[in-house]
Amino acid sequence: MAQTLTLKLQAPVTHDTHRYVFDRPEGFTFEPGQAAELAMCRDGWTDEGRPFTFTSLPGDDHLEFVIKSYPSHNGVTEQLPTLKPGEEVMLDGPFGAITDKGAGLFLAAGAGVTPFIAILRNRARAGDLAGCHLIFSNKTAGDIILQEEWDAMQGLTVDHVLEEEEAQGLHHGKVDKDFLDSHADLSGQVYICGPQGYVDAMRDAVKELGVPDDRIHTEEGW
Ligand SMILES: Cc1cc2nc3c(=O)[nH]c(=O)nc-3n(C[C@H](O)[C@H](O)[C@H](O)COP(=O)(O)OP(=O)(O)OC[C@H]3O[C@@H](n4cnc5c(N)ncnc54)[C@H](O)[C@@H]3O)c2cc1C
Repeated sequence: MAQTLTLKLQAPVTHDTHRYVFDRPEGFTFEPGQAAELAMCRDGWTDEGRPFTFTSLPGDDHLEFVIKSYPSHNGVTEQLPTLKPGEEVMLDGPFGAITDKGAGLFLAAGAGVTPFIAILRNRARAGDLAGCHLIFSNKTAGDIILQEEWDAMQGLTVDHVLEEEEAQGLHHGKVDKDFLDSHADLSGQVYICGPQGYVDAMRDAVKELGVPDDRIHTEEGW
């Protein structure tokens, strides 16, 4: 159902990613991991809705999104950081394929971590992170969204993997079947989110390692 939201604040999370906090309309709810379509209430942009994931929790008094900007697209995500508190956006949703189906392995690349922000924050709040493992791929350390929050989550196992940079305590390279075979317990649920090529590669890898389809949860179309 369409709703109008008012921006309360926005702040940088990394060099190209911001958090956006809006008033939560009365009675509006969603499940951690779900997304909604946002469109700016500005001339020429009202028909340009794009999907983004809630990173706040259903019981919070606000709605939060963490959104990576792509200036090369000349699209919505380039415009969003120019939004000022008090401006409105249209929200349509919620929807989304990834919700919490149980503890397990969370495979994320870049902004694909956003469904796991809500799911793992929800589990952290309940003290229920046993058996949860986040393997988070980025190009450089400066690209890691919410690194301090991940590293501080009690009970969460975290592996950061950097493709283009070496950094102490972080893995260097690309996650592949061999990496998963040696670093991950694949006996629980497996959640995958990121660019389509990453999702396809991770799905193939975990399937080859014996994970059945009904334990693999992916968000497509990033
Ligand atoms: C269910 C779901 C949830 C999501 N949640 C989040 C989230 O919480 N946070 C987040 O950061 N992202 C999220 N995404 C991804 C996000 O929706 C896209 O990054 C966003 O739609 C991009 O919008 P845009 O207008 O900037 O660019 P686009 O709509 O991708 O592109 C605008 C135009 O730019 C051009 N273009 C497209 N790709 C390229 C390219 N690679 N290089 C050059 N030009 C290009 C095309 O001409 C296109 O018409 C989610 C996606 C899905 C499907």
